[in-house]
Amino acid sequence: IVDVKYDPNFKYVKYNNPEYSGKKVRATFVTLARNKDLEGLLPTIKSLEDRFNSKFHYDWVFLNDDEFTDTFKRTVSAMISGEAKFGVIPKEHWSFPSWIDQDRAKKVREEMKEKKIIYGDSISYRHMCRFESGFFWRHPLLDEYEFYWRVEPDVSLHCDIDYDIFRFMKDNNKKYGFTISIKEYVATIPTLWKTTTEFMQLHPEFLAKDNMLDFVSDDEGKTYNLCHFWSNFEIASLDFWRGDAYTQYFEFLDNAGGFFYERWGDAPVHSIAASLFLNRDEVHHFGDLGYFHNPFHQCPIDEVFRLGNRCACNPKDDFTWKGYSCGTKYYDVNKLKKPENWEKFK
Ligand code: GDP
Ligand code: MN
Repeated sequence: IVDVKYDPNFKYVKYNNPEYSGKKVRATFVTLARNKDLEGLLPTIKSLEDRFNSKFHYDWVFLNDDEFTDTFKRTVSAMISGEAKFGVIPKEHWSFPSWIDQDRAKKVREEMKEKKIIYGDSISYRHMCRFESGFFWRHPLLDEYEFYWRVEPDVSLHCDIDYDIFRFMKDNNKKYGFTISIKEYVATIPTLWKTTTEFMQLHPEFLAKDNMLDFVSDDEGKTYNLCHFWSNFEIASLDFWRGDAYTQYFEFLDNAGGFFYERWGDAPVHSIAASLFLNRDEVHHFGDLGYFHNPFHQCPIDEVFRLGNRCACNPKDDFTWKGYSCGTKYYDVNKLKKPENWEKFK
C-alpha cells in the first residue's frame, strides 16, 4: 500500500484517514429508477459496495413513480450491506402542475423533437428533472437522513474509498459535493437564468456572502456561462434543499413553467442554487473517487494516488481538465491548487 499524504489544498484525503471513520452520519444512497433499470443497477451497486459501502453499511433508498417489483426489491436488497428501502413517488411530485398550459407544452416537445434536442420530446424525462429538482427529499423515506449520495444506473466508481465520505461532509461543513462539471445545452434552458435573476431581485437575502457566482457567470451575473455540476452524482446535504432559500427558489422556477415549456434539467437548477445560496467552501470537488457515467470519466491523474487506491481507469480519459469541462474554472475561481501536470490532461 502506498501511503498518500493528505494535502488539504489538493483535496485528496489520506488513504485510511482515521479522522473520517468511526461514528456514522445519518446518510443514505438514493436512487431513482424504473423496474427495467435493475440490470443497469446491479453492477453499479456492486461497484459502490465493493469500493465503499461494504466498509460503512449505509442505507439505500430506491424511489420509483411506479411500484417496484418483488424481483427488483429482492435482488438489490441482496447486494446492499445497509438497509434497502423502496418508495413510490406521490402523484403530485410526478405530474403536470395545474397551471401548465398543455398545448404550449406539447408544442415545445414537438419543436424540440424537430431540433433533435436530447430528451426534448420526452414527458417522463421532464417529470424526472422536476422531481430531482424539487421533490426527492420530500419523500418520507428520506426524512430521517441528513446527507445523501445520488446514484444512477450504469455508473461506477474507479477507486477505493477508504474514508467515510458522509462524515467528511459533515465534519468539514460541506453541503454539496460533485465529481464532474460540464456545460449545459443552452437550448434546454433559454430562460432559466432570466428567471433566476428575477428571483434574486425579489430575494437578495438568499445570496450567500462568499457565493460562487463567478463559477456560473463570467460577467458578474448578466449571463449564465452554462457551467454546472453533473447531477447524476451528488453527495449533498438534504437540509440544503429543505431550507428556505432553495424551497422558495424551486417554487419560483416551477411556477415559471420552464420544466415543461423548456426542458430545465435538475443539474443546472441544483448547481445555480449551490453557487448562489452556499458559501464557496461549502462546496466540494471529490477529485479522488474515480467515476464513470456515460460518456465521461473522472480518473485521478496523480499516479501515486491511483495506485494507492486501486483505481481501475485511464488518466487520459479524465474529463476534469478538458475543454468542455468546468473543472479548470472551478479550481481557478476558488483559488484551489490543481494537481501537478494537470495541463498534460487538457
Ligand atoms: P441521463 O443520465 O440524463 O441520460 O438520464 P437517465 O436516463 O440516466 O435518468 C436519470 C435518472 O432518473 C436515472 O436514475 C433513471 O433511472 C431515472 N429515471 C429516468 N426516467 C425515469 C422514469 O420515467 N421513471 C423512474 N422511476 N425513473 C426514471
Ligand atoms: Mn444517467
